[in-house]
Amino acid sequence: MTELIKCPNCDNKILSRMGTICPNCGFTVGYFNGDRRRKDYGKLFALTVFAPFFSFFTIIFAQINFYSFIIAIILAVFLAIKSCPINFKTVFATNFERLFFWNIWIFSNIFLSVIVFNIISKSI
Ligand SMILES: [Zn+2]
Repeated sequence: MTELIKCPNCDNKILSRMGTICPNCGFTVGYFNGDRRRKDYGKLFALTVFAPFFSFFTIIFAQINFYSFIIAIILAVFLAIKSCPINFKTVFATNFERLFFWNIWIFSNIFLSVIVFNIISKSI
């Protein structure tokens, strides 16, 4: 997993491994400035947690009004697309990781769909 990256301070080639110290300027590779994969992984992880949570509360609060409810659904669909593991194919090192994120994504979106369905069926 270790590859060479450009030091952001001095353009020296250094290892992407976390904790690597640039021999030229002393820059230390941290969690968010290592290789691309790690950055994408952090993004996917944040989206996986944040997207369903945000959608859930938006839908719950937006149901008081028809138009806000429609906007909340559009937002939820947008976030579902954004957080879909299909956009992060290069991130997964193991099949377990891939299945893990797919499961969370599928279950949280089924859960959100059920809530939306319940709200619609109640208001008709
Ligand atoms: Zn450097």
